[in-house]
Amino acid sequence: MEGWAEFYAAQGLPVVTVWGLYKTGENPVCRCILREKCRDAGKHPRTSHGANDGTTDLAKRRRWKWESGNIGICTGEASGVLVIDVDPRSGGRETIEELQRQLGKLPAGPLVATGGGGWHGYMRYPGGADGKLEPGIEIRSELGPGVQIKANGGMVVAPPSLHKSGKRYVWARDRDLESVEFPALPDGWVEAIFKCGCDENSNSCYTDPLNPCYTYPTTNPTCYTEDPEDPEEPRGSMDTLAAVAATTFADQSVVGNASFIDHCIAETLPRFQGERHAQIFQLARLLKARFPAAAPTDFREDVMAWYGQAIGRLGVDKIRADATENWGDFCEGWGKIKYLGKDALPRALLARAQTAPDPAAAAGYSDPKVKLLIRLCKELQTHRGNKPFPLSTRMACRLLGIKDRMRAHRWLTALVADGVLECTFRGDRVPGGRASEFKYLGD
Ligand SMILES: [Zn+2]
Repeated sequence: MEGWAEFYAAQGLPVVTVWGLYKTGENPVCRCILREKCRDAGKHPRTSHGANDGTTDLAKRRRWKWESGNIGICTGEASGVLVIDVDPRSGGRETIEELQRQLGKLPAGPLVATGGGGWHGYMRYPGGADGKLEPGIEIRSELGPGVQIKANGGMVVAPPSLHKSGKRYVWARDRDLESVEFPALPDGWVEAIFKCGCDENSNSCYTDPLNPCYTYPTTNPTCYTEDPEDPEEPRGSMDTLAAVAATTFADQSVVGNASFIDHCIAETLPRFQGERHAQIFQLARLLKARFPAAAPTDFREDVMAWYGQAIGRLGVDKIRADATENWGDFCEGWGKIKYLGKDALPRALLARAQTAPDPAAAAGYSDPKVKLLIRLCKELQTHRGNKPFPLSTRMACRLLGIKDRMRAHRWLTALVADGVLECTFRGDRVPGGRASEFKYLGD
């Protein structure tokens, strides 16, 4: 394994040591602390900063134990490569075929058959002359079911690592690093993978890759995400949290909100000295995933309760941070968390809309879904402040649970005609185009 690590490093590809496996097969056992409970067995870095610890200077990393682990190749600016990760078990085969139909066929670059039946296609990272993207532009992490993009801060497990299936990752015939170069992505692909920098994860964006909110290289990103730099953007508040909390779990009988938070606290308490920092971050991750519109300050008491319980469990000597430091770490973690899960923010707003009273503007409509659409638009507007909100018909369909995009289009057209909405930007309705933007004019 070490020889391979040296080979990759010599090609200019930063490598990182990755946890190996004690056992493969149906019940794989990762060598990390989670053992059989690890959900990412044999695939995650052993270092504290993950792919950011990747290096081409292996002399500095003599303590990495290659023989008992796997190898990760870092992606993005660090290496100048981008990897398209296709997982057929999640529908990746169909997605990649559809994407190639729409965006152009991918050129034949280096290709890895993963031990799990998937592929890693290596491409040249689409940075400028300095290898970097233009400011404000980021790369989507997912292009559809089973197709992920590994770029900045990411890594892929590389041959000859062992997959939990028991098979090894291998370079495809005549598609290894010595046979082919990293090809440039076709233009259609470049456009589809770029998105505005409002959020690190495409899944929080209101549009999908084939209908992105951001088209390279214009500079008018419009996404529904919180931007702390923007004073016009309303921030989460206790009020927001209470409203979201009251409705987000309305359909989940398993846990109420208070017990959900208690559950998160119990799940994330540190188990040993040195784990506090990672676990308080994990608490922030769990809470933000459920309450994406909230502010960290909404959870101050909960974080203090967490700290008290952590002290109770491990003792003050092993925690080695006071309550305020711990609170500071939670707030810092909250700010860093980008992955919120698919449509997390719009879904949180939808949850509020579902139980909100009908505004007077909804009185003239009988279809409950149209009424819901109106309430949703009201929530979107509240979230955006004075700015128009983008809403693609695709997104409207997903949120309202309807299949026919023309239906959503006609409803929106009708609401504009009736003066409930103003259309401030007409969407392109083509792959790569922007979503339509609206202002809610109702009460
Ligand atoms: Zn693991």
